[in-house]
Amino acid sequence: MLTLKGLSVNYGMLEAVKDVSLEVPEGKVVSLLGANGSGKSTILKTVSGLKAPREGEMFLGDTKLNDMAVDEIVTLGISHIPEGRRLFPYMTVLENLNLGAYTRSGKKEAEEIREEIFERFPNLKRRAGTRAGKLSGGEQEMLSVARGLMSRPRMLLMDEPCQGLSPIMVKEIGNTIRSINESGITILLVEHNVSIALGVADKVYILRNGSIVYEGSPTDMTPDEFTKRVYLAA
Ligand code: ATP
Repeated sequence: MLTLKGLSVNYGMLEAVKDVSLEVPEGKVVSLLGANGSGKSTILKTVSGLKAPREGEMFLGDTKLNDMAVDEIVTLGISHIPEGRRLFPYMTVLENLNLGAYTRSGKKEAEEIREEIFERFPNLKRRAGTRAGKLSGGEQEMLSVARGLMSRPRMLLMDEPCQGLSPIMVKEIGNTIRSINESGITILLVEHNVSIALGVADKVYILRNGSIVYEGSPTDMTPDEFTKRVYLAA
């Protein structure tokens, strides 16, 4: 579904992503593992149109994403749930959610989607009038995911959804990722928590210094071996 061919991305002279080719098949979850600074977030930002590639091609199905604007990419069906949640803390849960529907012109359609989302996240419905900044870390992450679903995406790019969360919330996020995928949404996941990343994935890539150094199945190695490979470059 998503295909990257020879993608290279720079910040000035710094080559953050070097000749990356990867594939996220339709209906699957693909996890991208890598130590800090290996280029994972840059790949997600480039796919969602926030950063321009220096070289390479990106396709969603047959549609080329290069040179498309961020809102066109959202309309095409890709939704990016950024690292750090990026909520508006002084706006309510409902107001934050509504922002996710900006590419959906019809008010009725946005309401329908919101009702579906409230069924999936009943806690957010209960807290619809609460300011986002008053929510717990786990609730904020759920809100960020829910906002990402408001555009009715075919594909989610998730950047470190488990960051800073308690073990119970991490488990809940893992379940949420599975259930979103079971509803037919393809997922490209960046996650430092190796056990969640492996637990939900159909396929895994390891990135080191901007390049892919491993591509395979989450069952190819034990979680410990994956961890060593990712963080100790073993
Ligand atoms: P982390 O796990 O810490 O989020 P990452 O694997 O997502 O890391 P990126 O954030 O993609 O890595 O960063 C890749 C490289 O690009 C790093 O060397 C980083 O310092 C650099 N970089 C990222 N953003 C910028 C920026 N806005 N300006 C300059 N350099 C940047």
